[in-house]
Amino acid sequence: MPISLLSFSLVDAPVTKEEARKILERDNYVCQYCGLDGRGSFENALAMRVDFVVPRARKGKKDPKNLVACCTPCNTIKGTKVYPSFEAAKAHVLAQREELRKAWEAKTARPKARAAGA
Ligand SMILES: [Zn+2]
Repeated sequence: MPISLLSFSLVDAPVTKEEARKILERDNYVCQYCGLDGRGSFENALAMRVDFVVPRARKGKKDPKNLVACCTPCNTIKGTKVYPSFEAAKAHVLAQREELRKAWEAKTARPKARAAGA
């Protein structure tokens, strides 16, 4: 099978290229959790996946109603947990991203004295 951007989208999802394309196009290649625009850059395009809202591991169906465009980080954060609703899953993913952002900012922030000094 020749490699294409859709090949990356299929890594975690047993959907065909055509099924993946339909879901990604329906969602405008935008991550339904964080809003990352898969058409914004080549790197973003590489990160796009098709996510099972109810995970396959939890008997989620390969049905368009259970599939959304999703970026890899959100897919990883969401994991295989089952949420009461898509909105609950999204709230969890966004809260986790915010925690990660704070941790990253704390690690990467330069001390003010040094930043201001010579
Ligand atoms: Zn995302």
